[in-house]
Amino acid sequence: MTIEQVAVVGAGTMGNGIAHVCALAGMEVVLVDSAPGALDRGVATIARNLERQRSKGRISAVERDGALGRVEPATGLERVSRAGLVVEAVPEIAGLKYEIFEQLDRFAPPGAILASNTSSISITAIAARTGRPGKVIGMHFMNPVPVMKLVEVIRGLRTDDATTEAVMTLSRALGKVPVEVRDFPGFVSNRILAPMINEAVFALMEGVAEAEAIDTVMKLGMNHPMGPLALADLIGLDTCLNILEVLHRELGDDRYRPCPLLRQYVAAGWLGRKTGRGFHDYDGVR
Ligand code: NAD
Repeated sequence: MTIEQVAVVGAGTMGNGIAHVCALAGMEVVLVDSAPGALDRGVATIARNLERQRSKGRISAVERDGALGRVEPATGLERVSRAGLVVEAVPEIAGLKYEIFEQLDRFAPPGAILASNTSSISITAIAARTGRPGKVIGMHFMNPVPVMKLVEVIRGLRTDDATTEAVMTLSRALGKVPVEVRDFPGFVSNRILAPMINEAVFALMEGVAEAEAIDTVMKLGMNHPMGPLALADLIGLDTCLNILEVLHRELGDDRYRPCPLLRQYVAAGWLGRKTGRGFHDYDGVR
């Protein structure tokens, strides 16, 4: 099965990265977002990141321009009507994803695969909102998408073999390493990562150490490329909170309870890099 056109729904942190790698791999990409300004920001980010790759000698100017030319911004979900694959990357809110998948099922071609980049929400539950549960799958890219190799491929209870195979093959064509996992809250990546980030926020709240010190301990002591609080800022603190809430609710275990300090930062609008402030300050650095 060859997929010539991909639609990406949501042009934020993840969506623009997914559009970037698909376009660079030669696919036509329709990038859909509903928020005013989000598409312009998304396309500008793709242009900036492609140029960064060119300046490092990873791609040529022709490849950069070709990729950018293959990204078509769009505001309505009905624009997915020619896509062989739709990748949804809207905020981590179950009700929103259910609504979007109901609409994607109406607008996408009958044979199209509908994938979600969700970090923690059940693929099986999302699939049940559509008339094609066998063609619904999780494609969990990592941030930043153009750099990170992993795609966690999540098989819902009803996902069929052909869909899984097509997504594994497509992920490899994007230069990624796909790993198949089962549909369980947080999958593998966030089942392990989210509690670590939460524990770092508890350590900060309890005054065990300053943010910088917590991150340095984990970087130098555990050989992590970045500390958990800096990573939370990169992911987005709202996204981290949403993931923890899913783990807490779905697994029913208080060890996943979100730290009150994380809730407070989200309530304050300190969402990490995307707002310029999280556990660290990013004034002027985006
Ligand atoms: P984000 O807030 O940066 O971007 C979400 C985008 O979706 C925004 O541009 C918003 O305008 C758009 N949107 C909202 N409602 C929409 C609608 N009805 N139709 C079209 N567009 C709509 O979020 P993000 O960080 O890119 O996260 C997206 C998904 O990816 C989430 O499910 C998240 O859990 C997952 N994820 C995030 C990361 C990360 O590090 N940020 C990593 C892996 C997976």
